[in-house]
Amino acid sequence: MPRNKSITRLCENCGKTFSVKPYLISRGHGRFCSWSCFRASKPEIHERFWSKVDKNAPIHPIIGTRCWVWTSNMDDEGYGLFSVSEKSMRAHVFAYQEAHGYLLPGFLVLHHCDNPPCVRESHMFVGTHVDNMRDCVEKGRLPQAKLTPDAVRLIRKLNTEGASQREIGRRVGTSHTNVGYVLRGELWSWVP
Ligand SMILES: [Zn+2]
Ligand SMILES: [Zn+2]
Repeated sequence: MPRNKSITRLCENCGKTFSVKPYLISRGHGRFCSWSCFRASKPEIHERFWSKVDKNAPIHPIIGTRCWVWTSNMDDEGYGLFSVSEKSMRAHVFAYQEAHGYLLPGFLVLHHCDNPPCVRESHMFVGTHVDNMRDCVEKGRLPQAKLTPDAVRLIRKLNTEGASQREIGRRVGTSHTNVGYVLRGELWSWVP
């Protein structure tokens, strides 16, 4: 059987048949026909998710509204991790799907606010890898120059050692504007 041939399943919530690609089943997509059937079958998950979100983070300096910051487990890149049925998924993707339904295969959930733990739907958009690269270019940074929790700690350390914001930006590989946001606590204030 070709690897990408769809197979038919019965939705565990509404009983409808639906088709799913085998590789998505390993990512937990094989049980429900839609995100709303998934939610309806496990309403407590919704509550558990939002209990881990801090809606009082500082107002984002560019967007002008508050990031809603994940306060539980994070991965190395600073994205929130939420466990659902013994698998963990990125918290911002969960939040996006809460609002819009299952993400189509091949798409990523990206952040307008450049703040990986943010799960506020209006701060996110959907795109491909190409869009991700273009977004990085428009924001004047390389994809790998995105800030991470380690980079934020390094920025603070260099600041206590007396380096200028421009010098810190050069050494960390980000703009001096980003360095300013970090040092004033307007972005990434959640990093301990
Ligand atoms: Zn269903
Ligand atoms: Zn945000």
